[in-house]
Amino acid sequence: MIVPIPEYCIACGSALQQQIPEGEDRLRGVCPDCGEIHYRNPKVVVGTLIESEDQVLLCRRAIEPAEGLWTPPAGFLEMGESMAAGAARETMEEACADVEIVRPFARIDLTRIGQVHQMFLARLNDPGIGAGTESLEVKWFPWDQVPWSELAFPVVEWVMRLRMEDLDTDQHRIHHGCLHWLEVGSPMSLESYDLSDLQSLSLIP
Ligand SMILES: [Zn+2]
Repeated sequence: MIVPIPEYCIACGSALQQQIPEGEDRLRGVCPDCGEIHYRNPKVVVGTLIESEDQVLLCRRAIEPAEGLWTPPAGFLEMGESMAAGAARETMEEACADVEIVRPFARIDLTRIGQVHQMFLARLNDPGIGAGTESLEVKWFPWDQVPWSELAFPVVEWVMRLRMEDLDTDQHRIHHGCLHWLEVGSPMSLESYDLSDLQSLSLIP
């Protein structure tokens, strides 16, 4: 979901004009009546990679976008929440799973759609899992049976590939990356992005 361009003033309801406010360098929605400037800034998405015995927990999405495709539990951070608390809440909502956050794993900037994704490694506090209202089903996948062609979003595929690489090579890393869309090809395909802006930092295990 791309951060939408606001059409009406949140303060007074008037139709906005797109103009560059004095002293700024880009178009903003400016209210001609009350002067309110409507800034658009990226949204934060938080989620968890829950691992147990060489398996990872995925949810099959019950809602658009990407209905029917697989993703780790993740969703928009709410006001007043820490990123870790938001990730645990989304995990409870989508996978009915009570988790403990282990550590940050990957932060990916999605500049095309104005999102920042922070994924954490997590473990279950309680073995119970189940499909929340936004999931058709939740399921454990051994890492060698991940449904790569049925993952919901390019960011999901990238994060999971980074995690599998770390597991295969016995590395403990934290990743910071950016999905730069190449402006050709489907924005839903990881191949349509330049992934070279990646920093992978090793942690002492
Ligand atoms: Zn206004």
